[in-house]
Amino acid sequence: MTRPLKPCGTPAAIMRHRRRGQPLCDACRKAHAACKREWRRTGRYRLPDGWTAS
Ligand SMILES: [Zn+2]
Repeated sequence: MTRPLKPCGTPAAIMRHRRRGQPLCDACRKAHAACKREWRRTGRYRLPDGWTAS
């Protein structure tokens, strides 16, 4: 059984990069910026509702 990996551009993928010591890829960098904005607004590190990677 394999655990489904969250795609890049999600908080889970961002943490995966970090755990592995990898730099964030493009999708994750954008997601990270959006998460940080949301974190400042709501105190929760997550993607804002309706956020899409494109
Ligand atoms: Zn990534």
